[in-house]
Amino acid sequence: MLNGKSAIVTGSTSGIGLGIAEALAAQGVNILFNGFGDKAEIDKLVADTAKKFGVKTAYSAADMSKPAEIRDMVAQAQTAFGAVDILVNNAGIQFTSPIQDFPEEKWDAILAINLSSAFHATKAALPSMQARNWGRIINVASAHGLVASANKSAYVAAKHGIVGLTKVTALEQGDKLITCNAICPGWVLTPLVQKQIDDRAAKEGKTTDAVASEMLGEKQSTGRFSTPEQIGALTVFLCSDAAINITGTTHSIDGGWTAE
Ligand code: NAD
Repeated sequence: MLNGKSAIVTGSTSGIGLGIAEALAAQGVNILFNGFGDKAEIDKLVADTAKKFGVKTAYSAADMSKPAEIRDMVAQAQTAFGAVDILVNNAGIQFTSPIQDFPEEKWDAILAINLSSAFHATKAALPSMQARNWGRIINVASAHGLVASANKSAYVAAKHGIVGLTKVTALEQGDKLITCNAICPGWVLTPLVQKQIDDRAAKEGKTTDAVASEMLGEKQSTGRFSTPEQIGALTVFLCSDAAINITGTTHSIDGGWTAE
């Protein structure tokens, strides 16, 4: 169904973005990887994915806080694959602090990477989708796009913002076969969350296992982490023909976090 389509997945050198990229590649989708990391490891990921799934792959080191680099990344995908059919705005960072102590440069970076980058990438990718009258835009928001937690002002503001951007994008493309939806994960055990576990374990003098199970217990009735593979599977569904009339929505995959 998606065989031969082409996707950009931002922040796909790690965690959820990597899970999404691999799930799409398994459907025959060409993948432009993006994100930071060790150059040799990224080169291997890009080559291995092409070989394993028989798709074209490429890599852009674009920094999602820099609009010109985002535009260059979209142009690179168009040149490499001939089109951008699927855009997954996933790159994101976290920083926690009460507002009175929150560093201004951290606020600016989180808003730029977790929210504004999705606007710039969507703006650059839409003309290619409109020309072909087919497109899927998936914004990786968060349970924090729907509800708040203390000490995450910038992250919660950015994630609520990307849910709003998702709705506007959907409305503007409603007359074409272009949809835009947000995925709202709860806890997924990636480097982004591992850092929060490690920081809290160090601060409270507990083991990381004890902190992980406390964090799950506080928010998720299932007591289980979601996995990048599960988020990849939801992304594939949202890109499918069956999902053509699903647009402007949020899809929670959060172990019951936002049901309470
Ligand atoms: P991660 O740290 O494992 O991966 C983040 C990715 O973004 C990496 O590839 C990193 O290199 C890339 N990145 C960071 N800054 C970048 C920049 N300036 N330019 C380009 N790439 C950049 O984190 P993750 O947990 O996989 O998070 C992915 C997305 O999922 C984020 O938007 C995050 O907010 C969201 N999310 C994560 C969880 C969770 O529990 N892990 C829950 C809800 C939402």
